[in-house]
Amino acid sequence: AKEAGGGVYASYDPAMHDALMRRLSLADDLRLALDRDELVLHYQPTVDLATGDIVGFEALVRWQHPTRGMVPPLEFIGIAESTGLIVPLGRWVLAEACRQAVAWGRPVKMAVNVSVRQFEAGDLAATVAAVLAETGMPADQLCLEMTESVLLTDTDENLSRIVGLKALGVMLAMDDFGTGYSSLAYLRRFPMDVLKIDRSFVDRLGSGDAEDETLVNTIIRLGRRFGMLTVAEGIENEAQLAVLRGMGCDYAQGYFLSRPVPAPEAGALLEAGLPA
Ligand code: C2E
Ligand code: CA
Ligand code: CA
Ligand code: CA
Repeated sequence: AKEAGGGVYASYDPAMHDALMRRLSLADDLRLALDRDELVLHYQPTVDLATGDIVGFEALVRWQHPTRGMVPPLEFIGIAESTGLIVPLGRWVLAEACRQAVAWGRPVKMAVNVSVRQFEAGDLAATVAAVLAETGMPADQLCLEMTESVLLTDTDENLSRIVGLKALGVMLAMDDFGTGYSSLAYLRRFPMDVLKIDRSFVDRLGSGDAEDETLVNTIIRLGRRFGMLTVAEGIENEAQLAVLRGMGCDYAQGYFLSRPVPAPEAGALLEAGLPA
């Protein structure tokens, strides 16, 4: 299959071929996954740094593939986006997360990741409104997490989409803050309620590097200054937790506090609290 003509197959690489085949086959399977109930949500607690209380969860999708086992989101969210499947998949995630939050029967915030495609494809505000109505989820308990790429284009259309979502009374979070471009401009332009500090910044905390600490401290102050709640993600040890608490960061998430867990375990954590 080494066809030099046109150069298309000139650099045939079996590893790349395998990766492509896997992608294509996953794309086919993903179409069926929704109907076959193969998608599940795991929930990672968001913890109030001042009190240690669980204030909410972030819903993270997983795919229980019949033959490949658990497929992580980074392997199929991209496929879902390029095939358009992200729209029904995203709707399912929203509905399932809200249904679960209501089922726990106590006030709890639920954060759901929304991808750019999902945001730009259909009428997300209408979808969210329908899901809130259908599940009985109070709007102010739902938080939609968007990466800076959603805001990147900065078109009037995207701004009006954001305003439309805001009008429903849901919270909006800027995810992975600091990893994209010109983040500072967005802070002024978009009415976001929550600023999530990317794990890459948290990773470097607690080792005593003054510059890394200054960076995170500045992000926290910036968020506050703009009236946003600050959430640090990816806390993996006690030292990072202590530094963030000392800086007055509002909320935290990370393996050190809890990994994302299936709904029954999340419900139990909500009842009993995290082990001290
Ligand atoms: P994200 O929104 O930044 O979510 C945080 C990711 O970091 C999750 O990976 C989580 O399991 C992981 N994580 C949490 N704490 C720690 C920690 O202490 N250390 C480390 N190393 N990792 C930690 P996950 O679940 O594999 O999700 C990866 C990404 O996939 C998410 O990144 C998000 O962008 C996307 N994703 C997940 N679920 C959904 C969804 O329902 N819809 C959309 N559109 N995207 C989703
Ligand atoms: Ca997120
Ligand atoms: Ca992240
Ligand atoms: Ca993300």
